[in-house]
Amino acid sequence: MKQSVKLIAGNWKMNGLAADLDAVIGELTLALQAEPPSCRVAVCPPSTLISRLAGAVRGCPIEVGGQDCRAEAHGAYTGGVSAEMLKDAGAGLVIVGHSERRQEFGETDLLVSAKAEAAIRAGLAPIVCVGETVEQREAGRAVEVVRDQVMNSLPKAVVGRDFAVAYEPVWAIGTGLTPTLAQIEEVHRAVRAAMIERLGLASAPAPILYGGSVKPDNARAILAVPEVGGALVGGASLKAADFLGIIRAA
Ligand code: PEP
Repeated sequence: MKQSVKLIAGNWKMNGLAADLDAVIGELTLALQAEPPSCRVAVCPPSTLISRLAGAVRGCPIEVGGQDCRAEAHGAYTGGVSAEMLKDAGAGLVIVGHSERRQEFGETDLLVSAKAEAAIRAGLAPIVCVGETVEQREAGRAVEVVRDQVMNSLPKAVVGRDFAVAYEPVWAIGTGLTPTLAQIEEVHRAVRAAMIERLGLASAPAPILYGGSVKPDNARAILAVPEVGGALVGGASLKAADFLGIIRAA
């Protein structure tokens, strides 16, 4: 992903039926066609809506993403969706290692790395999520925890490919709480350093997104923090007006 252009990605989680998608994307496409965004815009709906979204955004600057994938390309994994299937349905990106998956499904750094590698194999850009819990932050371990997650969740296969890392403090997701701008900058710097060390490069090759209660009223300040290359947006991406407010702040 080009670092100069910010990426604003919406994560719909397990929300949205066809009618919701039609309404939100209808409003978004009209607004973005009238005034093209100065950033990259992506929407990651539930897998059931990926193909419908891909059809709806044809000719419009909105990219389509999945929210998770299995590491395997195919096989006896009831309910599973592979990166190849997301690609086939029209996706160009996929979120991997979201804290809800790490916490609810016990996903480890090793598995997240395998999923990111699967995304690369399928021709998708992975958005690899990392972030500390409140206990880890209160213990003064936020930077160390996030650094370890980057070192262990980012496969070398991303070198030369389109990808992003998203720093999402677990305690900021869906809570209305956000770190201070100085805390965001501190962790993003650590993510950048870890990315460079892990991939053995001279400079970081991908944007680092911030995620966790990004709203239209705090987006401009967060997106102006040095090192912040975009935002991963949950709740506010479900309403066209709110998501547009964040896109316009980038
Ligand atoms: C998320 O789930 O990735 C997220 C950042 O959610 P929210 O914006 O609702 O905090």
